[in-house]
Amino acid sequence: MTLSNTDLPATGARPATFDSLNPRTGDVVETYPIHGEAEVRAAVATAREAAAWWSALSWDDRKDRLNTWKAVVTRRLGQLAEVVHQETGKPHGDALLESALAIDHLAWAAAHARKVLRRRKVPSGLIMANQRATVEYQPLGVVGVIGPWNYPVFTPMGSIAYALAAGNAVVFKPSEYTPGVGVWLAATFNEVVEKPVFQVVTGLGETGAALCRAGVDKLAFTGSTATAKLVMAACAESLTPVLIEAGGKDALIVAADADLDAAADGAVWGACGNAGQTCAGVERVYVHERVYDEFLDKLVAKAQGLYADADPQAKIGPITMPGQVDIIRRHIDDALARGGRALVGGKEAVDGQWVQPTILVDVPEDSSAVTEETFGPTMTVAKVKDLDEAVARTNASRYALGSTVYSKAHGMEVAERLRVGMTAINGVISFAGVPSLPFGGVGDSGFGRIHGPDGLKEFCYAHAIARQRFKPMMSLTTFEKDEKVETRLTKLITMLHGRGSTLPR
Ligand code: NDP
Repeated sequence: MTLSNTDLPATGARPATFDSLNPRTGDVVETYPIHGEAEVRAAVATAREAAAWWSALSWDDRKDRLNTWKAVVTRRLGQLAEVVHQETGKPHGDALLESALAIDHLAWAAAHARKVLRRRKVPSGLIMANQRATVEYQPLGVVGVIGPWNYPVFTPMGSIAYALAAGNAVVFKPSEYTPGVGVWLAATFNEVVEKPVFQVVTGLGETGAALCRAGVDKLAFTGSTATAKLVMAACAESLTPVLIEAGGKDALIVAADADLDAAADGAVWGACGNAGQTCAGVERVYVHERVYDEFLDKLVAKAQGLYADADPQAKIGPITMPGQVDIIRRHIDDALARGGRALVGGKEAVDGQWVQPTILVDVPEDSSAVTEETFGPTMTVAKVKDLDEAVARTNASRYALGSTVYSKAHGMEVAERLRVGMTAINGVISFAGVPSLPFGGVGDSGFGRIHGPDGLKEFCYAHAIARQRFKPMMSLTTFEKDEKVETRLTKLITMLHGRGSTLPR
C-alpha cells in the first residue's frame, strides 16, 4: 500500500518507520513512515493551497466530487472492511457495519452542506428594522483530524466528511494501530479529486502533537480524555480551536415496563460488540428492582452464547491495543475484591488479547469498574428502587457521552432527565446511525459535535452581515445623535422590555 501524499518533501534522511500489526496474529500488516514536524507542516501548507481551490468550488461541484468518492468507497466496501479487520482484529461484520454507516454520513454531509451553511436571512428586530440581516457559515480553512483505532473509519469520518463538505481541506493523523485505514481513505479520495484536499500523515503520538502545532485552523480530536488534555494544551499555544470527542461510561436503564428480551439483547450487544471497545458502548446497567432478577436471567443466557476467539465464527474479536488488557483486568479484579460477583466471565475472562464477556453484579458504585472507562466486553449491573435512582446514578459519572433507556411508556421522560450528549430509547447506540443527529459529549466526554447540521457548523465560522436598507428613524451609531434620540430609545426599549415577567415584584 502506498501513501497518498506522495508530494511530501524529502527530508534528506530516510524517515523512521513503524509497523501496523494484526492483533489476532501479531503479524506485520504494513510498515509506515513516522512523519515528523517538517512533513506535517508541509502537508498543512499543501492543504492550505488545496483549501483555497476547494472552498471556491460551487456547492454542486464539491457535492459531485464527494459523491464520486462515496461511490468508490461503497464499491470497495469489502476491501475497506478487510483493512479494518486486519488492523483492529474486529470481525468482518463489525468492520462492514462501521464502514457502511460512515458512507451514509458522507452522503448526508455532501447532500446537506449547502442547505445548512449557505447565507440566510434572519430577523433584524424592531430597533434595527432598517437593516437586512444575514448569516453564512464559511469554512475555517485546514482542519487537522486525529483519530482513534476502535472505529478507525466511522469515528474520524464524522469529522473528515463534515469538514470537507463544509469546504475545508483536511490533514488526518490516524492512530498508530490503524494507519492503513487512514491511508486507504485518503488514497481513494485522491483518486477522484484533482487536488490534495484530503491528506494523511502517519506516525505515533508525536506526529499528532506536531499536527496540533502545525497551524491548522481547527483540530478535531477523538481519543481518550487524558490525550485530549494534551491536545488542548498544545492547541492553546496558537489559540487553535478544538473539537473533543473523548471517552464514555455509558449507562443503560431498564424500567419496570421494559421489553426485557430486547433490553437484554441491547445490553449484551452494546457492552460486548466490537469487544466493548466502543466510546458510546454500554458499560453500566441500572435495572428496576421489580424486573431485576428476570432481566439478569435473560442477560446471562444471551451472554453465555458469546465468546471471543480467533475462529471466524466468534462474534467477538481481540482487544486491539495491548495496554488496554491491563485496565480491563484491573477493573474486574477491583470489582471482585470489593464484593462484586461475576455471573459470566470474571477473573479468568482475560487471556492475552482475548477477553470473554463479563457480567458483574453487586459492585460498589465507587469502584473503577463503575467510574472509569473499561473499554472491554464487560458490564456492571445494579438494582435500583425506581427510575429516579437510575437517573441519579447515570448522571453521577464525570463522563457523559451516550445512554440508553428501555421502557414502553417512560423512555422520553427518562431521556430528558439525563445529562448526556445522546440517548437511545428501546435500542442501543441508534443515535450514531442517524446522520441528522449531532454526536458528542458533555463533561469528560468532551465538547463540540460531529454529524448533522451541528457537525457541519463545527467546521465553519459564522459570518454575519447587516446591510442598511433605508435610513433609520433614529440614528444610534453617530456622534450626531441628540437627547431626543436617547429619549425615544429609552421609551422604545421600555415599551419592548420593561415588563420582564408576570411574577409579583
Ligand atoms: P488515545 O487518546 O490514546 O489516542 C487518540 C489519538 O491521539 C491517536 O491517533 C494517538 O496517536 C493520538 N495522540 C497520542 N498522543 C498524542 C499527543 N500528545 N498529541 C496529539 N495526538 C496524540 O486514544 P485511543 O486511540 O486509545 O482511542 C480510544 C479512546 O477514544 C477511548 O477513550 C474512546 O472512548 C475514545 N473514543 C471516543 C469517541 C467519541 O466520539 N467520543 C469515539 C471513539 C473513541 P497514536 O495512536 O499514534 O498514539
